[in-house]
Amino acid sequence: MEKYNDVILLKYGEVVLKGLNRNYFNQLIEKNVRKALSYVPGTFQLEYAQSILFVRGEEDADMDSAAEAMKKVFGIVAVCRGMECEKRMDVLCALAKEHAHELIGSSRRFKCDAKRSDKQFPLSSPEIAAELGGAILETMPSLKVDLHTPEVVVMAEIRDHSAILHGASEKGAGGMPVGCEGKAMLLLSGGIDSPVAGYMTAKRGVEIEAVYFETPPYTSDMAKDKVIRLARKLAEYTGGVKVHCVSLTEVQEAIAANCDERMFTLLLRRFMVRTAEAIARRSGSHALVTGESIGQVASQTMLSIVVTNEPASMPVFRPCIGLDKEEIIVRARQIGTFDISTLPYEDCCAMFTPKHPNTRPDPDAVREEESKLDVDGLVERAVRTDQWIWAKKTSEPSVF
Ligand code: ATP
Ligand code: MG
Repeated sequence: MEKYNDVILLKYGEVVLKGLNRNYFNQLIEKNVRKALSYVPGTFQLEYAQSILFVRGEEDADMDSAAEAMKKVFGIVAVCRGMECEKRMDVLCALAKEHAHELIGSSRRFKCDAKRSDKQFPLSSPEIAAELGGAILETMPSLKVDLHTPEVVVMAEIRDHSAILHGASEKGAGGMPVGCEGKAMLLLSGGIDSPVAGYMTAKRGVEIEAVYFETPPYTSDMAKDKVIRLARKLAEYTGGVKVHCVSLTEVQEAIAANCDERMFTLLLRRFMVRTAEAIARRSGSHALVTGESIGQVASQTMLSIVVTNEPASMPVFRPCIGLDKEEIIVRARQIGTFDISTLPYEDCCAMFTPKHPNTRPDPDAVREEESKLDVDGLVERAVRTDQWIWAKKTSEPSVF
């Protein structure tokens, strides 16, 4: 058995195109990688060279968990497991034979390639590739060499002090490193859409903070717990999410006591926008994010969204706007939020939904209804109920 050390190779995506700012983006990815690794057992070292970030672990390092965690760091497009060994051709070939199945995966057509940063190495790159290919074919003779359209490329990197052998890579999360775009406030309900909206925004490099509106005693701590669990899922991609829990009980009761039932949901949404914005401003967020999608429910017809949007002075991002529910569900499953979102706990809006909602609301009529309320006072008092929780990455459900 040849000796080698596990190494993880991370390939960057779009940041590679960032020209002069590239260093800034690289450093941000490294910082986010370090943060993600801080939750993985073991000690890790990073090295950036030739557009690849190498992750090495000490004896105690859990490299499998590290590789999984790396697939959730935005800015990385490919995650590849490699073997680092002595810089000798016989060692590389022996490793290629021993680990041919891992390197090739389920592919049938392959090719080998080599890169030499150590130009003193006695073999040229094509010679290294040919020897490695021969070694793999000895172990897996039914494989086909395909130089033009291989399903997998087995790569040998001859570096200054070692050689690295790696094969098939797995897809990374892509996008831009979280933190490169400032912060936005996600309106996070316990539903399916808003976590997906948060994920999509974070994927473009935006740091996400969240606000959850509860209406105790009409909503329970179980509903809040569900939202915190969703935030923890998002934290697997962002490093952590500060969740503001804000009570809209007084607002909801004031609407119920004074306003036209057909406008209940819209009026409540307008209060959500105002309150979220007040909290966003205090926390240094520059935009709001919601999970709205045109036509999904009565309160999300285009005209309803126009009315909901009216009180906002910050931009409101709605990344799910053009997605069908099915498409949102596919994404929710991919990011691991679907099973939490579909837990049965009630949402404050669900208990407050009018029997005959107005799908073509008249903005003047909505404003008229709203004028029956002390809007500023209600928002101010709602903001004062804010209690935040730091949702960290963990697989454990939180307990209240
Ligand atoms: P989801 O709740 O997953 O977004 P949904 O179809 O239930 O799906 P609605 O309840 O209609 O969506 O709400 C639309 C958007 O308003 C949500 O995506 C979310 O951004 C925001 N929102 C709704 N209820 C709350 C809440 N209780 N707290 C925070 N934001 C909320
Ligand atoms: Mg909802």
